[in-house]
Amino acid sequence: MSGLYDLLHGDFLQCGVCTRMYTDPVILPCLHSACQTCVQRHLDDSGVRQCPVCQQQLPATDDNGHRPVITPNYFLVRQNGQ
Ligand SMILES: [Zn+2]
Ligand SMILES: [Zn+2]
Repeated sequence: MSGLYDLLHGDFLQCGVCTRMYTDPVILPCLHSACQTCVQRHLDDSGVRQCPVCQQQLPATDDNGHRPVITPNYFLVRQNGQ
């Protein structure tokens, strides 16, 4: 049985942008995860709101006009904390 082990110790904990272990992982609406700094840098550099992994468009604002919801990926945070 290697599936779960590979998930927890392989690419699952690796940011698709900087290819390092997540430092401050967030999960995007497309369900990709990346470091918060990587996502923010991508948004700043490109000027386009899209996922740095799959280029899917991210919502500019939510219904209340706030910044798009980029949720900390607590599962990955917890895994990293061990
Ligand atoms: Zn990263
Ligand atoms: Zn994506």
